[in-house]
Amino acid sequence: MSKTGGCLCGAVTYTLKDEPAEIGACHCNMCRKWSGGIYIGLEAKPDAVEIKGADNLTTYASSEWAERAFCKTCGSSLYYRVTAPGPHAGTYHFGAGTVDDLGDAKMTGELFIDNKPKGYSFAEKTHQMTTDEVMALFAPE
Ligand SMILES: [Zn+2]
Ligand SMILES: [Zn+2]
Repeated sequence: MSKTGGCLCGAVTYTLKDEPAEIGACHCNMCRKWSGGIYIGLEAKPDAVEIKGADNLTTYASSEWAERAFCKTCGSSLYYRVTAPGPHAGTYHFGAGTVDDLGDAKMTGELFIDNKPKGYSFAEKTHQMTTDEVMALFAPE
C-alpha cells in the first residue's frame, strides 16, 4: 500500500511507497511558526518518495541541518527534510495534514514536549522527548 497527498491548491502532489504506521508531533518553536499550529509529521525515506509539481515548492533552510518546503501558491506546509549528512540525511517528514487519508496511522511520539503551550495536549499516550533529549539524539556533533 502507498499513501498519496498534496497541498491545498493541488499544484504539488506526492506518493509515498510505504504505508506509514506512525506519526509524530513536534512542539518546537520553528514547527509551531511554520505550520501555524501543531506540526504532525510522517517519516519517509528519500527513495520512497515521489513528488509531482516540485517546481511549485519553495524551500526554506530553517536550520543548518534541515529545510522546510511549502507550496508557492497556497502555502501548505508539505515537508521538513534533513539536509545534514549522517544517518538521517534526506529523510522527509511530511505534514500529516497533507496526506489524503491517514488510515490507521497512530500518533506515537512528541518532540520538544517542554515547548508545548500549556493550554492543550494530546490524549494519545506517546513517547515524549524534551529539548535536551532530542538534541542529544539528533543534533550534529
Ligand atoms: Zn498549493
Ligand atoms: Zn519541530
